[in-house]
This record gives sequence, C-alpha cells and structure tokens, in this order.
Amino acid sequence: AIDNVQMHNGRLNAFVAVTERSILEDLGNQSVERQQQGTSLSPLDGAPIGIKDNFCTKTLPTTCGSKILEGFVSPYDATVVQHLKHSGAIIMGKTNMDGFGMGSANVFSYYGVAINPHDKEKNPTNKRRVAGGSSGGSAAAVASGMCVAALGSDTGGSVRLPASYCGVVGYKPSYGRCSRHGLVTYANSLDTVGILAQDVNMARLVFDTISDYDIKDPTSMTNEFRKRIDHEDQVLASRWAKSDDLSGLIVGIPQEYYVDPLSETVIEFWRRGIRFFRERGASIVPVSLPMTQSALSAYFTIALAEASSNLARYDGVRYGQRSTKDREEEDEFLYADTRAEGFGSEVKRRIMLGTHILTAGTYDKNFLPAQKARRLVQQDFDRVFIQPNLLHDQEYNSLFDKEGEGRVHLLLTPCAMSPALTIDECLPESDMHDDQSSNKHNRAVDTYVNDVMTVPASLAGIPAISVPSGESNGLPIGLQLLSQYGYDQFLLEIANVFS
Ligand code: GLN
Repeated sequence: AIDNVQMHNGRLNAFVAVTERSILEDLGNQSVERQQQGTSLSPLDGAPIGIKDNFCTKTLPTTCGSKILEGFVSPYDATVVQHLKHSGAIIMGKTNMDGFGMGSANVFSYYGVAINPHDKEKNPTNKRRVAGGSSGGSAAAVASGMCVAALGSDTGGSVRLPASYCGVVGYKPSYGRCSRHGLVTYANSLDTVGILAQDVNMARLVFDTISDYDIKDPTSMTNEFRKRIDHEDQVLASRWAKSDDLSGLIVGIPQEYYVDPLSETVIEFWRRGIRFFRERGASIVPVSLPMTQSALSAYFTIALAEASSNLARYDGVRYGQRSTKDREEEDEFLYADTRAEGFGSEVKRRIMLGTHILTAGTYDKNFLPAQKARRLVQQDFDRVFIQPNLLHDQEYNSLFDKEGEGRVHLLLTPCAMSPALTIDECLPESDMHDDQSSNKHNRAVDTYVNDVMTVPASLAGIPAISVPSGESNGLPIGLQLLSQYGYDQFLLEIANVFS
C-alpha cells in the first residue's frame, strides 16, 4: 500500500494527507508480530485503510476538502475511526473529497480533482476521467491498491457513485447503524457513514468493526432495536448464505429508474444483472416506485436547507481559517470575510439556496412539501418490500400487506447514468472558460441529475450497495442493490453472490 501511494498518488490525487512512512512501517511490524504470536486483534489487524477527510482524526488534519478548514486538527477521533484503530487497522491517510461532501465528481475540492485510476494516462487534463464524488479520493485509493478499504460518507450517493465509476464496492448501511460522532455534518438527517472496499467481504469486515451503538450520536440505532432487527436480518440472510442457488429470492426492477438520460451501456449492464439473478433461480418482478420522480428535488431541498444551517458554525472564530483582511469594523466583517474567502463556489451556491429555502414563504412552499415527499418515498419502499419496516408498528406494516402481490426482497437498479465522466463534463458553467460555456445554461444545477439513482435510498435511510459489474471500453460500471431498513447482512449476503 505504501508503495502504491508513492507510485500513484501524485497522478490520482486520492490522498490529501498521508501518515508518515516510519509510523506506517512501525504499525505494520507490530501487526505482523501479533499475527506470528497468534494475538491478532481482529481480521482487520494490519489492514491499510483510508479515511475520507470529513472524519475527525487526532493525528492528521481534517479539512473536508475545503480551504476554510485548512490545517484544522481535531482534538478527538471519530467513533468509527476509534473502532478501526482498536481493531488494529492502519490509517493510511485522509482522502480527497468535494468540499463538505457537496458534489458528485470531486471537482469541488480545494485540493483539486481526484482522478479515476481507470483513466487513460494520455488524456489531456480536461478530458481526464473523474473518480466521482464526493468520496472520490476514497474510491480512487481503494481502486489503485493504496488501501484495501476506505471510509466514505454517503448523504445522497457519495460512496455508491464513485464506487461505480472506479470499479470498487460502495456500501451505504442503514441510517443509524454506524456512529456519525466525529463525521463532519453536511445534512444530518441524511448523512451516513459509508464503506468503499475491494470486495464485498472486505466491506462486511469493516462494517462489522464500525457498526455499533454510540451514546454520542443521538441518531444511533439503540442496542435493543439492533437485537430485534438483527435477528430478522440474520434469518433472511441465512436462507441464501454462501450458496449460488438463489431460488426463492424475489428481485424487483423499479420501472421509474429507467430514465431518459440513462446511457445505453448502463441499460445493457442492468439487463445483464437481471439475467444473472434469473439464471440462479431468483424471480424477477417489475415494480413501481411512483415517488421516485420527486426524490431528487426533495433531496436537494432538504439537504441544502440542513447544510445552510449546519455550515453556520464556520465563522472564523472557533475552527480553521480566519480572514486577515484589515477592516475598521472588524467584528462585523470577520464572519463574512472568512466565509467569502474560505468556502468554495459550490458550497456558497448551496448555502444561498438552502438559506432561501428556509425563509418565510419558501419554507411552506418548498421545504414542507419536500418533507412530505420524503415520507412518501419511504412509503414507496415499504409498499414493495416483503420485509416489514421495523421502525414502524404492525398496524403500519399491515396497511401494505393488503396489497399482496408483486412484493420483493430487494431491488436491482443502475447506480450512475453512465461510466465515469470527464472533468470537463462535470465543471459548472461559472468554472469554465467563456468559449466553453455557451448554451450551458444552469449547468451547476443540471449536474444534480447525476444523483437520481442514489438519493431515494438516502431519503428512506435504507441500506444500498454498489457492486462492480464489469467494464465498457475500460471504464467500470456498478449496479445498485437496495433492501428494507435494517436488513444489512441480508443485503451484503446477496451482494456477495452477485459480485
Ligand atoms: N451528490 C450529492 C450531493 O451533492 C450527494 C453527496 C453526498 O452523498 N455527500 O449532495
């Protein structure tokens, strides 16, 4: 891993900070010793792991890919980072990301774009393929062997999309499974700790290590609830455990995911995925999730509103950068100057949109309907899954039972509209040269469409995983599997067969 960082990081820009070589070697030697003495701490002992730069770490800076936090070192480790350290995993470094997780291509990082390891090295700079975002650095680091797994965060698809672009596994567990304590907030009701890994088994090992109740995260799934849900989850998972025979499994294909901008190549891979399940005895059922059309606008309304409020804490007083502009009315402008200098263009755009959404009038007209749409997206999923939603009582779940027919154990969908895009295709109008920007009206907001496959699962808090399913012209394409809330082991079990 150390050699791979040395060989590839200059070109790929995956890590923005790397742990000192001597420390890595020491930790590696200690792990080897433990292994020889039969005292390994866990199956992850000695595994090199990357950490997205929005998880707090005591020994390396945490910048969230933004200038405003340049040089900031947290006084504590995020809970999930602590879990990894206790298991003997070795923190390789912090990975590149879109500022505060806002983006799908990693082009909004203060540290520059993370490049896709599958990019042809000879492409001119603006035609190079992006690693995807916002966890682009984590995906590129895993895909190029700089680590065996990496933490990402997934608010609306940020581990699944880059995983699809880079040909690795990207897993977003159910909301509340892994502690968010020490994960810098973007949109708290959607933020989920995510995992990028070379294969499903590695993703599962990391998940088992970091998934635990944490009193420091008020949205953490309680132990009591875990016990109940884990039992149901295990029962279902064991039906298809370690077997290639998937008979009895019912896989849904949501028709609303068949959208216009979906590329021919992705459609072809989706068909192949369907064939894979059919050939192993699973039944394939077309299903309808009618609220999918509203999911994208609901997501961006809620995420931006939460972000505008969460990012108010960057005032130049408590953390990171402070403007040094010399003004007479210092106090009044310190806050504004710091934010104007420190935030990137996309973050500013979103703070303004989010603030607008929360103003009187717009709140009723946009924010409340978005919250309602979110609830309906959740109900769409509850209607199609055979498994009950254990967050709700029997009465709620029995409402959907009556609808009987056509229900499924999991859903198979594309993950991204196309294979990895070029840098040029991802830059918004305002960041392009004049001659490139003609007829590119509203491009910044147009690029939000790329998230249409991933945001419904985020709104519903359900587990979702992107599994590599092959390459087209040398560029990987992933497919997404989704399951009912809490059925994480079941999802991983099927993903393992599928991978
Ligand atoms: N691309 C989406 C956004 O920009 C999702 C990002 C994420 O999951 N952090 O909001």
